[in-house]
Amino acid sequence: MEKIQAIRGMNDLLPDQSALWQYLEAAVAGVVQGYGYRQIRFPILEETELFKRSIGEVTDIVEKEMYTFDDRNGKSVTLRPEGTASCVRACEEHGLLYNQVQRLWYGGPMFRYEKPQKGRLRQFHQIGVEAFGMAGPDIDAEILLLSARLWRTLGVEQAVTLQLNTLGTPASRAAFRDALVAYLSARKDQLDADSRRRLDSNPLRILDSKDADTQALLAQAPVLFDYLDDESRAHFDRLQGLLDAAGIAYQINPRIVRGLDYYSNTVFEWVTDKLGAQGTVCAGGRYDGLVAQLGGRPTPAVGFAMGIERLALLVETLDRIPPGLDRQADIYLVVAGDVQAAAVRLGEQLRTALPRLRLLTHCGGGSFKSQMKKADRSGASVALILGADEVAGNRVALKYLREEKAQETLTVEEVISRLRG
Ligand code: ATP
Ligand code: MG
Repeated sequence: MEKIQAIRGMNDLLPDQSALWQYLEAAVAGVVQGYGYRQIRFPILEETELFKRSIGEVTDIVEKEMYTFDDRNGKSVTLRPEGTASCVRACEEHGLLYNQVQRLWYGGPMFRYEKPQKGRLRQFHQIGVEAFGMAGPDIDAEILLLSARLWRTLGVEQAVTLQLNTLGTPASRAAFRDALVAYLSARKDQLDADSRRRLDSNPLRILDSKDADTQALLAQAPVLFDYLDDESRAHFDRLQGLLDAAGIAYQINPRIVRGLDYYSNTVFEWVTDKLGAQGTVCAGGRYDGLVAQLGGRPTPAVGFAMGIERLALLVETLDRIPPGLDRQADIYLVVAGDVQAAAVRLGEQLRTALPRLRLLTHCGGGSFKSQMKKADRSGASVALILGADEVAGNRVALKYLREEKAQETLTVEEVISRLRG
């Protein structure tokens, strides 16, 4: 019979990889919680309207990347393509933004119907951070410092650079939009088809075009920076001052507009040249208009999301996987002969005494030699050997598998104190 395979662009995470993912997730959780961010979890399925209203109708995501279908009641639902919209929806629904600030983080799968390739999947995973209720550049700086700390924690700080831009307020952006449309309309025939269409519907997104000719044309186009109002300029200047004071390096990149409509003022991307075309590891910015756009009271907000697949690729490419991460067990208990009852008892006793120990008890019999081979393959550093003689003498044999040391016969108490060290 023909075997069923996973859906294209939706990967299985196999045991050899999952330790790296757990390590990354724990590292991120450790860093963000160190800044007082608390986790929020929301469903992976939402009403389609939520994403249309927040991300914007004329964006790649809403136009062609969403997994949208009718549920059994005929209601249009969508597998979440990102987390910010759901996060705002959940916060509003439960009154989390009323007269208070929130520092939140979330993680999990996101779904976009894209062309699968290295670092680009249809089910991918993000960890995101969102801060609500704070309008100043200090919180922008905080989330950038937090991400910089994460890169240091993971040992990838040399491979990522921070690209920074500001989109200004809606008013300054409108003035810039008019200038950009005037410039591009006069050169309409040189634009790619997508960009030509966007000239009427969402011209700013043309800056984000991946078409080479369009990008060449944009080199001479008006720059948003020249249209900024004083307040946006001051916000951006103060943010740069805070980053300078904290010793965080950055490049100002006026081409960064982000692929979603809801951003305003600060936008940024952490990019690497180590992963080919999919070089953005983490991206975000300020979205002061979104909460009101979704029906809440105006609430300043800033956040980012990072792609775990790309982060995992980066850590692998740079050889920053901590040693021993792929180890299945620390201790392998070899059961030599008909001593299963004693082995089970010993295993449980050790797990109770040393709860952080990963102890793998051999099951299924087999020769001493084959068990020792499995002990080696498990990555364990110590084999404990229990045979009829040891059981009779109330002892256990302990053998170091990665060091040249003589095998010893010890009491259980001695084993425990040895393994504790
Ligand atoms: P790109 O320009 O690469 O398509 P994006 O601007 O669409 O990225 P965001 O929506 O800002 O990406 O998502 C934040 C992060 O999530 C990205 O920087 C990336 O690390 C990750 N990401 C986005 N889409 C995918 C995907 N299809 N597969 C894997 N990771 C992704
Ligand atoms: Mg994209």
